[in-house]
Amino acid sequence: MIESFKHLEELAKDRDLAEVFLETDAEEHGVPAEDILEALRKRREVMRDCIVRGKNGGESMGKLVGSEARLLNEAFRSGKTFLDPLTVKAEIYALSVMGENSRMGVIVAAPTAGAGGIVPGMLMALEEERHIEPEKTVRALVVAGGIGSIIALSANISGAAGGCQNEVGVASAMGAAGVAYMMGGTTRNAIQAAALALKNTLGLVCDPVGGLVEVPCVKRNALFAVHGLTAAQLAMAGVESVIPMDEIVEAMVRIGRALPRGLRETAEGGLATTETGRAIAQRLKDDANRRRAERAAERERMAEERKATGG
Ligand code: SF4
Repeated sequence: MIESFKHLEELAKDRDLAEVFLETDAEEHGVPAEDILEALRKRREVMRDCIVRGKNGGESMGKLVGSEARLLNEAFRSGKTFLDPLTVKAEIYALSVMGENSRMGVIVAAPTAGAGGIVPGMLMALEEERHIEPEKTVRALVVAGGIGSIIALSANISGAAGGCQNEVGVASAMGAAGVAYMMGGTTRNAIQAAALALKNTLGLVCDPVGGLVEVPCVKRNALFAVHGLTAAQLAMAGVESVIPMDEIVEAMVRIGRALPRGLRETAEGGLATTETGRAIAQRLKDDANRRRAERAAERERMAEERKATGG
């Protein structure tokens, strides 16, 4: 078992990082490398389909989001964006996936649904913009998953456990390592990319408005996809984190434990309790009550009808 990032670096020094994760999995769980790769090929397809569907936008379940991917895509297509295409595509793709998630579409949790736009946003944009073979993306998913698994040995990957750093922070670290791998980086580059990404999300709280994975989650995925790309870029240029990755993960766990309950997915703090956040939560509650009353009235009406017709 790969117990830590220090262990990973020793084990995979001068080796293909995806290969090391695949070998370890085969030894530990008896799953052949080809089976894992095949499963991840399918995940990549789901990610790609999700991006294609999500680009058109559409109203979310809570009606708080839905047009973001479409708007940015339209701006990009008509030459009105000012960032470079890789960055803009990473944003569009992250928004597309999260839009699908907010409409209850099928997505790949990476590592969670709430942070599911970051890894595909970064990897699929890079594949397209730098003309990278899809198979390399599949192997980058192995790397991203491996990085997430090592973090998960010491941290619970959920906003409820430790705030958004545990979801979005971990996703950007996974994506950053995947990008470094796709760009031909070494194992050290990939670990450093993950470290720079995760370190700079520490303290990020989970405060979803109305308890829905819509605000701030959807747009946050676009922002942190770019964050992950920046981390990978720094690492590939030789910039390193002063604090080692294992210690960053330990810090994340400590910070998560120190976060008040209201900032851990309860919707009882932060953005969720702003004036607007509270008004939205009230509206969602009123809507749910109205729908419940309508359903009850409909059931009653049908029962009366059956009685009247002797059915
Ligand atoms: S704010 Fe909470 S629910 Fe939203 S993505 Fe972050 S951890 Fe998930």
